[in-house]
Amino acid sequence: MDGLMMKGPLTIPAILRRAETVFGHKTIVTRRPDRSLHRYTYADLGQRARRLAVALAGLGVGPGDRVATLGWNHHQHLEAYFGVPMAGAVLHTLNLRLHADELAYIVNHAGDRVVLVDQDLLPLFQQIRADVNPKHVVIVEADSPPPDDMLEYEALLEAADPAAFTPLVTDEHQAASMCYTTGTTGRPKGVLYSHRAIFLHSLASLAIDTLGISESDVALPVVPMFHANAWGIPYSAAMAGATQVLPGPYLDPASLLELVQNERVTVALGVPTVWLALLQTLDTHRDDWDVSSVRMLLVGGSAAPASMIQAFEERHGLTVVHAWGMTETSPLGTVAHVPSELALAPAEQRLAVRAKQGRPAPCIEIRARGADGFVPWDGRSLGELEVRGPWVAADYFNHAGEGHAFTDDGWFRTGDIVTIDDHGYIEIHDRAKDLIKSGGEWISSVAIENALMGHPDIVEAAVIAVPHPKWVERPLAVVVARPGRTPSSEDLRAHLAARFERWMIPDAFEFLHELPRTGTGKFLKSALRARFKDYTFPDQEAW
Ligand code: AMP
Repeated sequence: MDGLMMKGPLTIPAILRRAETVFGHKTIVTRRPDRSLHRYTYADLGQRARRLAVALAGLGVGPGDRVATLGWNHHQHLEAYFGVPMAGAVLHTLNLRLHADELAYIVNHAGDRVVLVDQDLLPLFQQIRADVNPKHVVIVEADSPPPDDMLEYEALLEAADPAAFTPLVTDEHQAASMCYTTGTTGRPKGVLYSHRAIFLHSLASLAIDTLGISESDVALPVVPMFHANAWGIPYSAAMAGATQVLPGPYLDPASLLELVQNERVTVALGVPTVWLALLQTLDTHRDDWDVSSVRMLLVGGSAAPASMIQAFEERHGLTVVHAWGMTETSPLGTVAHVPSELALAPAEQRLAVRAKQGRPAPCIEIRARGADGFVPWDGRSLGELEVRGPWVAADYFNHAGEGHAFTDDGWFRTGDIVTIDDHGYIEIHDRAKDLIKSGGEWISSVAIENALMGHPDIVEAAVIAVPHPKWVERPLAVVVARPGRTPSSEDLRAHLAARFERWMIPDAFEFLHELPRTGTGKFLKSALRARFKDYTFPDQEAW
């Protein structure tokens, strides 16, 4: 027997309807390329998103067509977040930090029909122009008339009649947007999000035990809108009626701190490298900024060192919340809040929990598989994390041969090696491919990196496996010292000796000025592995 409840589809237009009607007066702030601030409301967003949908239909965009964006975080991008899916089309956010070859591959693989390009990213797009074939290219924030074969965003919207908008989304399972994984090995793969997945993901992001996004929040997604939907903030903030602050191309600590102070930001979201840089600025210029409005810095994308969480709290009174997710999980997977049982526990114990990646969000189920089957939730046994839930990918877009990413019973294999403790908190020890196996024993590169980044003279650290004649692999640490500091290998070894077994400590430390990064700001270990593949440890001969 069916229940007698209405079957309203869970869609992006439904999120916008709520934002426009209930929170029509609330603001969206954008830092424009000339650094001025643009402000408008959710009511304005709704009007312009409908104009965009009408304009796209006028360009021949139909249901299921892909419309790409190559842009920073700004209100026009937000309009695409709503307007493209409302046109029945699929929003495809392109990563502006990718190499031109990879970008061209992705545009072609997705079959993008229209591309919206920021004026200041046009030189990047021109590099791939001859290799891709969209029907239309539209310039956003044009500061001069566009080239003959391109259109101008404002003119396009101006000419569109919002009253001509026809609702096209009736099925919540319809595709709404897509994002390619920034694979460090192999070709990028397309993840295709449905309206329903985005709606439910937004709803879950409002829960207090996840991100708790609420009407009173002022959300600053530093995470780019091309990185897993800016972690869903454009949609969850709209659903909650939260103010959005979009930083445009200015992601340096001073620009971010200025926005935090002047807009009274309550929640800011980004990868650890963003917060490590911000921490350095706050440490040296503490009195220049008022950050008292902030209730949470959300960090994810790679492991947040406990030392960073602690430093923000003790030195600046800022709460860092650690979360885990993937492009394939929309991305909200787990969030690390301190459980009620530990509310009064010593600070050290609470910090240890907060440095884990956290417990699954509602609707997300987790398990970890070791060599002999599923591992117990004992906080010690290592296994590959598998997840399932209504906003987890069930397949990749037009990508044959990726069956191994999914189990026979329909779970997604994350490639992350974790422990799960008896309270359901996961702790990421490595990507499967980054694990170091020395003399038959596993070494967690993440744990050593985090400890190194806790050293006062070190800002960044990556630990990689290097082939070794006796132990098969040994860890090599590649580090970046704080400006003006010159820690020695012995200092770092002594620092690690306090918490790791001797055989886990890297055999050598290489000092670089900066670490190579992926397009989403993570340390690019594959580049380090390639660079150091023939590395000879200083005292290797002695072994
Ligand atoms: P992406 O799809 O680019 O967001 O990358 C997802 C991957 O980033 C995950 O599979 C993890 O390996 C890593 N990751 C995300 N969040 C965290 C975190 N909090 N700690 C450690 N690794 C993370």
